[in-house]
Amino acid sequence: MARCVKYACAMSTAALPADFLRALAEGFPSDFLSREPSELQEYGRDWTRVYTPAPSAVALPRTTDEVSRLLSLCHQHHVAVVPSGGRTGLAGGAVAARGELVLSLRRMNRMDAVDSLGNTVRVQAGAVTEAVHQHCAPYGLTWPVDFASKGSSTVGGNIATNAGGVKVIRYGLTRQWVLGLQVVTATGQVLELNGALEKNNTGTDLRQLFIGSEGTLGVITEATLKLTRLPGKQDVFLFAVPDVAAVLRLFRDARQAPLLISAYEFFTDLCLARVQRHRKLRSPFEAPSGCYVLLEAESPDASAVEAWLASLFERGLVTDGTQAQGMAQSAELWALRESISESLSATGVLHKNDISLPVAALEAFCAELDSVFRARYPGWEICLFGHIGDGNLHVNIMKPDTLEKDAFFAHVKQADHAMFELVRKHGGSISAEHGIGLLKKDYLAYSRAPAELELLRALKRALDPQGILNPGKILDA
Ligand code: ZN
Repeated sequence: MARCVKYACAMSTAALPADFLRALAEGFPSDFLSREPSELQEYGRDWTRVYTPAPSAVALPRTTDEVSRLLSLCHQHHVAVVPSGGRTGLAGGAVAARGELVLSLRRMNRMDAVDSLGNTVRVQAGAVTEAVHQHCAPYGLTWPVDFASKGSSTVGGNIATNAGGVKVIRYGLTRQWVLGLQVVTATGQVLELNGALEKNNTGTDLRQLFIGSEGTLGVITEATLKLTRLPGKQDVFLFAVPDVAAVLRLFRDARQAPLLISAYEFFTDLCLARVQRHRKLRSPFEAPSGCYVLLEAESPDASAVEAWLASLFERGLVTDGTQAQGMAQSAELWALRESISESLSATGVLHKNDISLPVAALEAFCAELDSVFRARYPGWEICLFGHIGDGNLHVNIMKPDTLEKDAFFAHVKQADHAMFELVRKHGGSISAEHGIGLLKKDYLAYSRAPAELELLRALKRALDPQGILNPGKILDA
């Protein structure tokens, strides 16, 4: 991407001040800082993969006290810091391409004992999402934040990006599942916000400022997570339908069905083709179809569900369908959906978008979206999938073979304006769950009003007066 190359070259030679390095050497363990080239490569980037990593060093603290003393020094010496979790983000929020110091929370992965009376657990920011699930499962409890990257993503990153995922339709975003936060500010102050309290009505809730702020306002070091009971037996269905309009008709019907829906996901035949090519997975259907719907639900009344399923065929709402028999088959159906992101990246060059609409506006929006695609991308391959039950669509534009990379990215950057105009018209958001980071920064005004942006800038200045925390992410100062 032309923009990225320029971005990396302009700043990548930045070096850390000598007196700052001296203070680190004197006050921190000898393995605190890494300047190993392979680690700089690894820690300088996230899953966005379009920016060239160029951090100056990676700091690997073990305690909140070390984070606090480090940030206080960075503030004093004007050192830019990129807070870093599992780096599974898709908007460049954890990229260090301008000589920043990466502050990795990797070593801070302690998990305290589960409080099975209060349904909470306190963990450090570096705890991996899946490890938290495994830690809580023996108590019949879970932290219901779940997505394909759960084996690498960390609690701190999930909270800093207010991550979404495949279960939002039932549980909501990460924000709903955070009781308390420990945050270190840009000047090194340690804040304990809300503890383990469910109810606490003592004025403005500062904890919420840091959730979704992508490390621009403070560094999350610990969190008290709210847990819920593990769900009961889940049924997993895959349906074949002709087009996106049919996906939405089926959703309207499923909303009224005798089911407790925990996921309503869809993908097109173009996504499935790339999954089959990359992962060699098999479709359960003989005939191909325009779109597929993956429905996961608890079915308290099996006979009512059976009658509903039969009626789907009678009423022509689906053209084919299958229900997983057992865990292995459920996993196979889920693999078709969860392998899409990696399969698209592995089989082509693409431009990702992650938009959301009010669910009630989806039908009208999708009808108009087709004409944007026809006008801007005539004959191009567009892979649509997403958590459509939450109004969330992932729009992936694949690079045509005939186009050079730079020309492709220049084209999609322009074309995005047309789609975001439509998103704004229907009351949607330009980033449903991936965040803004570097990738969507230029489009933020489609979703946030000028007065809001001004308030966000004022907040940044108040909390980070030197502008050292994740500079250039979400907003320019
Ligand atoms: Zn998603």
